[in-house]
Amino acid sequence: MVSDYHVHTSLCRHAEGLASEFLDQARLKNLPELCFTDHAPNPHGYDPASRMALEDFPGYQAMVRALQGSRSPRVLFGVEADYYPGGVEFLGQWLARHSFDFVLGSVHYLGDWGIDNQAQIERWRAADVTDAWRGYFLLLADLAGTRLFDAVGHLDLPKKFGFVPPERDIVEMAGPALDRIADAGMSIEVNTAGLRKPIREIYPSPLLLRMARERGIPICFGSDAHKPGEVGFEFAAALSLARKAGYTHAARYSQRKRTLVPLPGAAPE
Ligand code: ZN
Ligand code: FE
Ligand code: FE
Ligand code: ZN
Repeated sequence: MVSDYHVHTSLCRHAEGLASEFLDQARLKNLPELCFTDHAPNPHGYDPASRMALEDFPGYQAMVRALQGSRSPRVLFGVEADYYPGGVEFLGQWLARHSFDFVLGSVHYLGDWGIDNQAQIERWRAADVTDAWRGYFLLLADLAGTRLFDAVGHLDLPKKFGFVPPERDIVEMAGPALDRIADAGMSIEVNTAGLRKPIREIYPSPLLLRMARERGIPICFGSDAHKPGEVGFEFAAALSLARKAGYTHAARYSQRKRTLVPLPGAAPE
């Protein structure tokens, strides 16, 4: 099986479980590596309900570091950090002060609209869906331009509740963002959380994953588990999607350096 590079513990206030319980699940599922990616703390009063406070960070680090004696699965220390205009200066300084293995970059907000927040779903009903997606992909392009992140989280998150523009619009809007992601040498994740949401589809869609493959963008895999039982969630489906898009390798990270490993069962190149 492939490694899980996206899990959240109870520290982020909307997930349950200790790091050790996630590791137990990863071991049961024979995952080679488990990378913790709790939501990064933020000083700007930015979404404090969904993330640890800055004061919680040493405890997060200690909790993950305490598990790093594990050889199988190997435990990696990561974070899921939000990109948003105005957050870059702090994030650049803060990331440089800590020795992460992996930094996942995500966009969850368009201005004050939490696009994946069920409590704000009315804003999707009122929105021009194509415009909303366009704004999102522009932010992803900016995210890539910061060079602060190793991989993009849930590439087509705006589809979560089923508000999806026509395919030709998606191709036109996502193309430039994917070009920037490729230029930045970043990976994207194949994130199975979408299968647990109304859209019932992995992030990204088969179409977007093929577009990423055409640009030579590597992939890693993430369950976006918010409880231990979700570790490695539906990874067989993720692997099959990746193979269908033409992928033969997955990215792995250590101290923010990427290497590529063959997908299990894929023919070596
Ligand atoms: Zn979360
Ligand atoms: Fe996220
Ligand atoms: Fe997440
Ligand atoms: Zn996420």
